Amino acid sequence: MKRDYYEILGVSRTATAAEIKKAYRKKAIEYHPDRNPGDKKAEEKFKEAAEAYEILSDPDKRARYDQFGHQAFEGAGGFEGGHFTNMEDIFSHFGDIFGDIFGNAYGSSRSRSNTRRAPRYSGTDLRVKLKITLKDIINGGEKKIRIKRKVKAPGTTYQTCHQCNGTGKVTRITNTIFGRMQTTGTCNVCGGTGEILKTRGQNSDANGMILKEDIISIKIPKGVRNGVQLRVAGKGNEAPGNHGVPGDLIVQLVEESDNYFKREGNNLHYDLYISMPEAVLGNEKIIDTPSGKIKLRLEPGIQSGKILRLKNKGVPDIDGYGNGDLLVNVNVWVPKNLNKEQKEFFKKNFDHPNFQPNPGKSEKSFFERIHDLFS
Ligand SMILES: [Zn+2]
Repeated sequence: MKRDYYEILGVSRTATAAEIKKAYRKKAIEYHPDRNPGDKKAEEKFKEAAEAYEILSDPDKRARYDQFGHQAFEGAGGFEGGHFTNMEDIFSHFGDIFGDIFGNAYGSSRSRSNTRRAPRYSGTDLRVKLKITLKDIINGGEKKIRIKRKVKAPGTTYQTCHQCNGTGKVTRITNTIFGRMQTTGTCNVCGGTGEILKTRGQNSDANGMILKEDIISIKIPKGVRNGVQLRVAGKGNEAPGNHGVPGDLIVQLVEESDNYFKREGNNLHYDLYISMPEAVLGNEKIIDTPSGKIKLRLEPGIQSGKILRLKNKGVPDIDGYGNGDLLVNVNVWVPKNLNKEQKEFFKKNFDHPNFQPNPGKSEKSFFERIHDLFS
């Protein structure tokens, strides 16, 4: 369960932007990694506060959060969370807020991130879930998904930042008790991107961006599994500015369970129900599998519980090492309702030797069959 952003920062829901900024600075100092070296809990708190501040400091995002809560930033087409996976991200994102606090005494982490992050930066990744059926997994192919991604609004233009001349960095000289210190920090005008908004397109947000619907083709590799993530480069949110690189679209595959075929690794299990006459006399059956129809020969006298292995009729291996098998579990259906004549037939044969169970060598026990399957 995610904590409430206001609660994290310890401010009321009516807090002003200045109050939120102040509260965040306080938390950031308290849990700063340089003050809490090796303390994972403090690092988590630090990240949590950064995430809360990221949302609450942006009027658009704050309004969405107030209305919809955490759901505003989750789910198909709108997931923007999770981009603070490492500390570097936080420092480069909020560089300016730490400017005076960590510029000198606590500056180690910060200056490292500032030299690493170039002015050109990327948009955030978009995450969506895509349901796939067993048929998709076996046959592969393409699926189309509808997403909403941030793009530059028509009419939005950017210009080079006048404060840092497009470098995204500014150098500060501070006098401290240790002497004059020079620190390089993120430009607080452009936030490190080196560019600022010149004209803002219609209906765009503070960065000149709008949400645009897009249809993306996703190639499903054969043999994929539940939870596999496919990355479509450049189809995430665009970054503001002329030099920004779009983020990626990350598609998480959700495997839907099939009503008839149960997947176990690359093998498929199928329960086949046959009638008593079929079991006694034998028959040919057609099984409609996700990869097509398969003809199956039932030998006369086939026993309930027999497992027929159909080689290579399972799921293709994701790495191309052939296919799994289709395992057909034979179940003989015992009728519940019989007419008089049928009842007579069974009564007449009640004690007949041909109807007495006589498991010989050819009828393996349940445990032997299971053993055979996995050996
Ligand atoms: Zn700048």
